[in-house]
Amino acid sequence: MSERIIIIGAGQAGLQIAESLRAEAFAGEILLLGEEGFAPYQRPPLSKAWLAGETATEKLTLRGPEFFGAKSIDLRLGAPVAAVDLTARSVTLADGETLDWTGLAFATGASARRPKLDGADLPGVCVLRGLRDAREISARLAAARRIVVVGGGFIGLEVAAAARKKGVEAIVVEAQDRLMARAVTPKISEFFAELHRARGVEIHFGAQVAGLEGSDAVRAVALADGGGFHTDLVVFGIGASANDATAAAAGLACDRGIIVDSCARASAQNVVAAGDCTVFKRPDGSAVRLESVQNAVEQGKAAAAALMGREKPFVATPWFWSDQYDVKLQMAVGGEGCDLQVARPSGENAFSLFNYRGEKLISVESVNRPGEHLLARRLLDAGLSPSPELVGDAAADLKSLLR
Ligand SMILES: Cc1cc2nc3c(=O)[nH]c(=O)nc-3n(C[C@H](O)[C@H](O)[C@H](O)COP(=O)(O)OP(=O)(O)OC[C@H]3O[C@@H](n4cnc5c(N)ncnc54)[C@H](O)[C@@H]3O)c2cc1C
Repeated sequence: MSERIIIIGAGQAGLQIAESLRAEAFAGEILLLGEEGFAPYQRPPLSKAWLAGETATEKLTLRGPEFFGAKSIDLRLGAPVAAVDLTARSVTLADGETLDWTGLAFATGASARRPKLDGADLPGVCVLRGLRDAREISARLAAARRIVVVGGGFIGLEVAAAARKKGVEAIVVEAQDRLMARAVTPKISEFFAELHRARGVEIHFGAQVAGLEGSDAVRAVALADGGGFHTDLVVFGIGASANDATAAAAGLACDRGIIVDSCARASAQNVVAAGDCTVFKRPDGSAVRLESVQNAVEQGKAAAAALMGREKPFVATPWFWSDQYDVKLQMAVGGEGCDLQVARPSGENAFSLFNYRGEKLISVESVNRPGEHLLARRLLDAGLSPSPELVGDAAADLKSLLR
């Protein structure tokens, strides 16, 4: 058989693997199989500009149809893979067709977690992962007076901000005592809580949803403490789980994600995985699961190289962003457990926090400071730690450290 690489999942990572294979001069067949009926598209705007009605659906597309022709990438949409045979080196589609491969890539992404609560299947109880979900939320938002967002993480808060931009009342229910608690430091949580309150969002901390009520559609959210809210729409932003069931059933090592090494290699020969479906096991045994565009892109490049027999480990500092109202938050996180936080101020609603453990810079969080954030990321990538005094002096030139 001539060489054929099959990529399962036509999202951000799957597309990147296909593109990088051609960039790595792979001359065989590339089959990109997607479950959804849409060509690869960007998900981040779904909870941001797209939901706020500020960007068109066509703008979400990552590559136009001419790209796939020009690169000889066979993109098949509406083609979910049901099973993989690692010994026979084949995949079976849901419609029964079997296809052979010489190299295989999993880029199956993740699924939004759905609540296991009474009333969770009522119309108007939504999650947000793909374009189909976003279209449903957008249509319901147009007719809603109020939305209850469960989960004060990035996606939930972005949805709340889009709802407020459309004049819909928004309530955020968060089980913890601060916003985005898993991803940002308390100062950033406080800044965003104030921002949302100033735009009219009601935030309830330490609150647990006990059930959803309604007959034909959701009409109320009941809280565990006996309280609750009337509402037309509920969006759960309570995290996502890696789509690793097909890989696990095939016999690949999985642990809440397909286990990969720093070169995106899975536990079988000529099999790689990239993006939200993976968990990266460090040599010391610790596990990292990232859900970000950067990770999908960088791991996708590593996966393509690995399929070509080359090692291209992914080493950059993980970074992420969120847009809420007119505020851009960016985070680059090279470590946890900061014991010193130094603010680099630069005006109203614009600052960066440089976070240290001992004398080492471990992460930087920026609010409306994209240029400074890029610089900070380069410092983190280079393993450089500017002194707290230098960072705190807004006039000091941090760029000179990179020369
Ligand atoms: C609303 C939202 C906002 C986000 N905002 C940000 C942000 O601001 N910044 C950021 O960095 N990241 C953000 N993310 C995360 C980012 O979009 C993901 O990390 C990225 O899309 C991961 O790419 P992926 O290819 O791994 O997964 P996906 O893009 O989810 O693609 C996986 C694809 O595989 C398909 N698939 C699954 N199983 C099969 C199968 N068996 N057969 C065939 N196809 C299959 C799926 O249908 C899907 O199309 C956001 C995500 C969402 C949902």
